Amino acid sequence: MIFDVNFFRSQFPILSEKIYGKQLVYLDNGATTQKPHSVLEKIMDVYERYNSNVHRGVHHLSNITTDLHENARKRVAEHINAISDREVVFTRGTTESINLMAYSFGETYCHEGDEIIVSAMEHHANLVPWQLLCERKKMKLRIAPIDANGCLILPELYKLFNERTKLLSITHVSNVTGIVNPIEEIVNEAHAHHVPVLIDAAQSMPHMIVDVQAIDCDFMAFSGHKMYGPNGIGVLYGRRRFLDEMVPYQSGGAMIDKVTLEKTTFLPAPLRFEAGTPDYVGAIGLAAAIDYIDNIGKESIRDHEKHLTEYALEGLRSIDGVRIIGESENRSSVVSFLVGDAHPYDTGMILDKMGIAVRTGHHCAQPLMTHFGITGTVRASFAIYNTTSDVDALIDGVKRVKTMLCK
Ligand code: PLP
Repeated sequence: MIFDVNFFRSQFPILSEKIYGKQLVYLDNGATTQKPHSVLEKIMDVYERYNSNVHRGVHHLSNITTDLHENARKRVAEHINAISDREVVFTRGTTESINLMAYSFGETYCHEGDEIIVSAMEHHANLVPWQLLCERKKMKLRIAPIDANGCLILPELYKLFNERTKLLSITHVSNVTGIVNPIEEIVNEAHAHHVPVLIDAAQSMPHMIVDVQAIDCDFMAFSGHKMYGPNGIGVLYGRRRFLDEMVPYQSGGAMIDKVTLEKTTFLPAPLRFEAGTPDYVGAIGLAAAIDYIDNIGKESIRDHEKHLTEYALEGLRSIDGVRIIGESENRSSVVSFLVGDAHPYDTGMILDKMGIAVRTGHHCAQPLMTHFGITGTVRASFAIYNTTSDVDALIDGVKRVKTMLCK
């Protein structure tokens, strides 16, 4: 497909909205992406023509939605190159996927004195559930350190592996700095110590080819809403030999094999982890989003976003007093920065008045903020529909912030 950014823009209705009378410049894609017509239409289509609960009915509509839902699972499996769609558990998003892991993996494999490793750059979603597990089970949470640029110190990470290590749970891409971790190498080293690995792919899945077999990870979590899909749907990928052993997370309907008043047996994975009515409309919408992405091609998406990121970094660096937070050769389409001594909220508010949506604050990564000795940053993050004009608007906005707020 020819890469025509204006054509892509025309597929996202929200991008024609005006904010305070100005054209919306949406640079908050790391938080959530906008949705193309094809995804919105698919959701409408399900509600208008097929809506019916899945897995339970024998009637026509229920069979259609069940097929669409299970085909969506196959579509996800294909997209991440899982061996089987039975390795794909639908969840509400990355956060729920990691909570599922902290409960089900924790209850099945972890005991007092065991250890879990995370890194100092994690989103709270990949930190707090492990803190709670460690408290509950009297385990130890080990933290892989990062350097002054925000990059993992790999030899220090590798020193943390020992015979008590039960899992390494680590992000693929930092949501604050955009730094891409050398995930294949890390998984390789973990496996050399017989430690399984969970990858938080919330910030990588929308932007790069993520192949679970090539990476050789044991688990992976990601969210639909960050990859042009609906809100409230996400995925936990897991190897079957783990998923089939792990105790259920939530319980109730749809995940049982046989129930008596005394005892219950459970379905195999993935259904044993999907208690209650699943968000089948979300799953079908996610499959439509994957179709959308694959139709463009992740290489093209990555090239486009790389160009925008480099352009933004160059523009921001040319402004005296602007400080980029986090530096690495290998980065995704996220740029965090500070403008002189201006508070990130003030910067964000002024940009907002210009119609520019950026994220400000600690980005759910308070330990990383502490590491950098700051309370927050301004974060611009790019997607398929962003243009160099969007970046120009950001740079002009930052110059204005500087004039207004900095001495
Ligand atoms: N992990 C990372 C790296 C993220 O960036 C985010 C969201 O920003 C999450 C986890 C949590 O994702 P969700 O809120 O979709 O569950």
